[in-house]
Amino acid sequence: MSIEIKNISKQFGEFKALDNINLEVASGELLALLGPSGCGKTSLLRVIAGLETPDDGQILFHGEDATDTHVRERQVGFVFQHYALFRHMTVFENVAFGLRVRPKKTRPSEAEIKKRVHRLLELVQLDWLADRFPAQLSGGQRQRIALARALAVEPRVLLLDEPFGALDTKVRKELRRWLRRLHDEIHVTSVFVTHDQEEALEVADRVVVMNKGKIEQVGTPAEVYDTPASPFVYQFLGDINLFHSRVHDGWAEVAGARITQTDEPNAANATLYVRPHEIDLSRVAAGSSIAGVVSHIRLLGSTVRLEVEVAEHDAVEVELTRERYAEGDWKVGEAVWLNPREAKVYLAG
Ligand code: ATP
Repeated sequence: MSIEIKNISKQFGEFKALDNINLEVASGELLALLGPSGCGKTSLLRVIAGLETPDDGQILFHGEDATDTHVRERQVGFVFQHYALFRHMTVFENVAFGLRVRPKKTRPSEAEIKKRVHRLLELVQLDWLADRFPAQLSGGQRQRIALARALAVEPRVLLLDEPFGALDTKVRKELRRWLRRLHDEIHVTSVFVTHDQEEALEVADRVVVMNKGKIEQVGTPAEVYDTPASPFVYQFLGDINLFHSRVHDGWAEVAGARITQTDEPNAANATLYVRPHEIDLSRVAAGSSIAGVVSHIRLLGSTVRLEVEVAEHDAVEVELTRERYAEGDWKVGEAVWLNPREAKVYLAG
């Protein structure tokens, strides 16, 4: 089922939590709402669910105005960061709960409930835990059960609010891959809130980057990462170096080095953003090299981060693969040349 969000605004007292939001979620899509704490992600999710009434705007479900419909009528399934499983019920009963509390007319038979719950437990690959209680499960297992429970009532839309936020990094990474595979199987229209850019880029079909109650950009993971619509998006999606540059003869220059071509007028100031892994190091200067001295070297597992001091500038972070680092055999105190890859430099006027 598709969702259309039209001109939605929501204010809490003086504070504008959502400022004229327009967004379409395609049927069967997995969409991530990504942004820093307080940018309005949860508020938007709650407006979609019907838990929060917008001050302005409309929500359409499958083309029909749902703005004033009650949360129950919207048929949405929820999964929150802090799993809300019933402690005194087994896993089976937790998943069956939404079906059992249905009015008699629409309640499935006991045999049908049994069949459906087992099918869902198989889907989340935890059928073997049906008779356990929540206290006997790991955090990751509980979230998978919470998802099975949300899916039991066959929601038209699934809403997930930082579902893996309380889990440790390794489990979190496993679960997001698992969620992606699960979604590929069931295709329920889903909106997923996260402040973790890696999670959004890995899991979602499209990512909505939010900032201060507004949408900065909507696009596929590759689009938002490779062609950011604003410096905010660029900075939020990964580590960056920021260079203050001046335009000379059609080139943005840093410390006399020509870094990237630009249409900005001569002598204009421009800010350049370059990710640490988009800068290479060399011992020989080229046309676009910036002089520096290696001041720190840190090993980050599969890559190595070098901090390079540049005269009259902030230190620059460079990330090299282990192979590239070993080839160069760089040392602290050594004079080097920084070479930002021109195609990967992001320029904001
Ligand atoms: P986080 O990642 O920290 O959960 P978020 O992006 O989900 O952040 P929201 O929970 O949507 O942000 O909150 C947006 C802003 O609205 C915050 O500044 C928050 O303090 C404020 N806010 C949210 N709900 C209420 C409320 N019921 N009353 C007053 N202010 C609220």
